[in-house]
Amino acid sequence: MNKNSDLGYSEFFEKARQEIGLGDFSVARVVSEQKGLYKVRNETGEYLSKIRGKQIFDATSREDYPAVGDWVTLTELENQEAVIEKVLPRKTVIKRKKSGSDEVQIIATNIDVAFIVESVNRDYSLNRLERYFSIVRDGGVKPVVILNKIDLISKEELDLKIEQIKNRFKEVEVFSTSVKNSQGVDDLKNFLEKGKTYCFLGSSGVGKSSLINQLIGKDEIKTGDIGESADRGKHVTTNREMYFLQSGAIVIDNPGIREVGIADAGTGVEDSFDEIVFLAKECKYSDCSHVHEPGCRVLEALKEGDLDEGKYSNYIDLKKESEHYSMNQVQKREKNRQFGKFMKKTKKEFKKYGHRGY
Ligand code: GDP
Ligand code: ZN
Repeated sequence: MNKNSDLGYSEFFEKARQEIGLGDFSVARVVSEQKGLYKVRNETGEYLSKIRGKQIFDATSREDYPAVGDWVTLTELENQEAVIEKVLPRKTVIKRKKSGSDEVQIIATNIDVAFIVESVNRDYSLNRLERYFSIVRDGGVKPVVILNKIDLISKEELDLKIEQIKNRFKEVEVFSTSVKNSQGVDDLKNFLEKGKTYCFLGSSGVGKSSLINQLIGKDEIKTGDIGESADRGKHVTTNREMYFLQSGAIVIDNPGIREVGIADAGTGVEDSFDEIVFLAKECKYSDCSHVHEPGCRVLEALKEGDLDEGKYSNYIDLKKESEHYSMNQVQKREKNRQFGKFMKKTKKEFKKYGHRGY
């Protein structure tokens, strides 16, 4: 079994544990979370746990709750179950503030390096990259760029992209990889250090899961390969989870990049596609999706060869992504509402029945 230091435990956390008077409790790291149930792991094994009722009382925001990556103190029960007593102070936090509110959402904690993954065949924007950078740096984490799917472009194109990035973001490290032919993957592997935690950020479809699977050495995470199956769209990772590599490095998959608010504004997409936005003004319908409508000026320009095909399909892709994101926002609001209700109910039950374990 692993030592806690293999799971990322360090002097920082040990000191914090002593300082807040929790020296008697054992510690464990949160490796996944689902519906208020936390899978935690330490040198003695893996536990399914819930948080102590008192924590629910004391919590003032979601930020007070354990997140993937956290070190927590624990009371172990039978059957590999446990109660989380407290979240130890976080060394780093990747979070985002929802625009227009004070509500904060934690993406992951105690991360050493955040990989910002971009796929080179897309018309990505340096502005978007910049937003990732600021989220990552705000949390005290070092950003590193991975350009994936380099099998899809020429060496010249790749060099140009790397140069652009290095010009814009001085001193940033850039890895280029292809999951398809394993190019660059060993360099990435060699970069990873034992006991350090890495988190993968990036839009859906850029190849995060595929990359992590290559690092793990087996297909542990389902990727976006959809094929002809009937359950189209189900093969997307929906949970944040921590993986332990053979080399001792720790990685967190981050499926929900839309949660980072990167694709949030429709306008953001359009910024980089001025030409299309300009054409769209002449479409017959003001809500034209530029996919099938009659009188669509964008499709017309495409047909006439005035508009670059690649640019068009990137635009449609990004637009879809951005629409999908707004939908998720609605779903997330609903989820938060339910979470609020759950807290209220739980608190009420505690008042009524007193404190019984958890
Ligand atoms: P995620 O949403 O970021 O986790 O992306 P996935 O790992 O699910 O990958 C999305 C799609 O891109 C899948 O169909 C992968 O097979 C494909 N893909 C991933 N990496 C590469 C690559 O390096 N080259 C090519 N050509 N395709 C890739
Ligand atoms: Zn149109």
